[in-house]
Amino acid sequence: MLCLRNIEYEKNGRKILHGVNMTFREGMSYSILGPNGAGKSTIARILMGELKPTAGEVLLDGRDITGLGVTERARLGISMAWQEPARYEGIRLREYLTLGGKLKVEEDEIREALELVGLPHELYAGRLIDKTLSGGERKRIELASPLLLRPRYVILDEPDSGLDITAGELIEELLGRFKRAGTTVILITHHEEIAGKTDFAYFVCAGRLVKKGFSREVVEYYRKTCGRCLFVEGSP
Ligand code: ADP
Ligand code: MG
Repeated sequence: MLCLRNIEYEKNGRKILHGVNMTFREGMSYSILGPNGAGKSTIARILMGELKPTAGEVLLDGRDITGLGVTERARLGISMAWQEPARYEGIRLREYLTLGGKLKVEEDEIREALELVGLPHELYAGRLIDKTLSGGERKRIELASPLLLRPRYVILDEPDSGLDITAGELIEELLGRFKRAGTTVILITHHEEIAGKTDFAYFVCAGRLVKKGFSREVVEYYRKTCGRCLFVEGSP
């Protein structure tokens, strides 16, 4: 179980997160839903260990991991689908996905992961990662990577952005695949249709948790309330 306990985050004297509490249980899927600027990516970066909260704790199976960085957390099975393939310019996609061959996977598994994200194996497995890859192709590569890594937790920050209208179906397939692999998904989005596909959801706004529960209920509440509130950037 992965938990955020009373997480506060302050930057340049401005409070971005105000006491956020969230729990992510094994084998479930969760959305973090909220409008732009709500603090979703900040929460993701705190879960990953890229940012240290100003106050509060990150707990993994009851152990305080707040002080651990990205690499240590990755070793504990917390990974994120924002690896920028750009950093690996010049290597082949197969090498990228298998961590340069360190990950022992069958070619069939590579095929399955690539095809699931809509990249035909025969065209992509041996393809060089270079400037000719489009934004959408890079996004799909990012999503294929955790399918092979099989982490305990995967954080997907706006996985539908930069994809075309088939994104919804792709996200649904990914969620099914992660569930079968026993990976807990934490899906960050500002689209309610996407959030509705996970088991549970957290609705955040202006750095605060507004509502939590079954996705269906949270999405309904979000639809009714978001955009109609009086929250103004900078209000207390
Ligand atoms: P979301 O992902 O929900 O769109 P973010 O977590 O990216 O929101 O940002 C939350 C708030 O924190 C925004 O108001 C944003 O401007 C601010 N913010 C994010 N990153 C920084 C930063 N590095 N320095 C200062 N303010 C930041
Ligand atoms: Mg964001």
